[in-house]
Amino acid sequence: MSANDAFHIAVLPGDGIGHEVMQPCIAVLEAAAARVGGFSFRFDTHQAGAIHYRDHGIALPKSALDTSRRADAILLGAMGWPAIRYPDGTEIAPQLDLRFEFGLFAGVRPVRTLPSMPAILADKRAAHLDFVIIRESTEGLFASRGKGVVTDDREARDTMVITRDVCEPLFDFSFRLAQQRKARGGKGILACVDKANVFASFAFFRKVFNERAGLFPDIRADYAYVDATALDMVRRPWALDVLVTENMFGDILSDLGAGLMGGMGFAPSADIGAEHAVFQPCHGTAPDIAGQSKANPTAMILSGAMMLDWLGEKHGRKEALQAAELIRAAVDRAFAEGLKPYEIGGTDGTFEVARHVLEAMSQKTLEVA
Ligand code: ATP
Repeated sequence: MSANDAFHIAVLPGDGIGHEVMQPCIAVLEAAAARVGGFSFRFDTHQAGAIHYRDHGIALPKSALDTSRRADAILLGAMGWPAIRYPDGTEIAPQLDLRFEFGLFAGVRPVRTLPSMPAILADKRAAHLDFVIIRESTEGLFASRGKGVVTDDREARDTMVITRDVCEPLFDFSFRLAQQRKARGGKGILACVDKANVFASFAFFRKVFNERAGLFPDIRADYAYVDATALDMVRRPWALDVLVTENMFGDILSDLGAGLMGGMGFAPSADIGAEHAVFQPCHGTAPDIAGQSKANPTAMILSGAMMLDWLGEKHGRKEALQAAELIRAAVDRAFAEGLKPYEIGGTDGTFEVARHVLEAMSQKTLEVA
């Protein structure tokens, strides 16, 4: 793309609160682009998800997939609905299909606490967390998705798959992320989180990790079993920096990370591959609050900032990186000034959260790095 081209963004709002949180995210992205200047967006919205499957017999229509493939990045709300299932009873989850289709091996799940949030842990150090979980997102135990076997109603098997082809780029990506964080004052540690003491698949995961560690001597390679990591995420989460782990372990640990931030509505994510990337909040469609304008759009907004980080790095567009910083600064400012979504016992609904973030962004005193 040339320096003047707009970023072409495929927008897949999905189901439930996916729709509700997408609108604020786009408004904040537009406002950040307007304030920083030098770049713009072309949003291309497509319907996909469980409701689309119910109404049209397909969850991820070809037009949505084609646009996603052509776009510079994909923004996704949330997909799935409890009562709508495939004939075999499995969930409608095109967001998982996209990970496999585009080889999005690195699920980046930052755990960064916002100012003035209710304390989740008693220790004061837990008010300032800043670490990242990288969840491998195309294989591991999820390789068995749709392939599990139940024999004679007596035995069930799902098989975990760990490959060198995925692990090498995954670990390289993770070491590079630790390097980028170190350059900004991070700890410079990458921990391999596994269960290498029990399973051959995880011993192999760790072996490949060790091989790649040799290429990044400036980063300290660390090791932890997943059970000990769950303990440390509660006992001393402030000591963590970057963690890389298998798909299923990452699925579980990243929800624990969301809990440390205040809830699912605070947890952004990026699913990154060699060419494509999807940016979506960690949460699902939240049927229990859908349609009530109570969803917290913070995770979606912060996922939009992660999209700008990725686009800025990939295309060498400094203004996109600045806009990402601006969005995070505006979110921080809004919370520091007392924003309190329903999710944490406040009275700020989806639109109020968006309004406060937009107001914070328009403040002249908000610094753009
Ligand atoms: P999935 O299986 O797709 O992850 P889920 O039903 O297990 O979906 P979520 O949809 O993420 O999980 O919801 C978990 C809980 O978190 C629900 O009580 C939901 O209301 C709450 N929640 C999720 N996202 C938000 C949000 N953005 N704002 C407020 N509450 C949220």
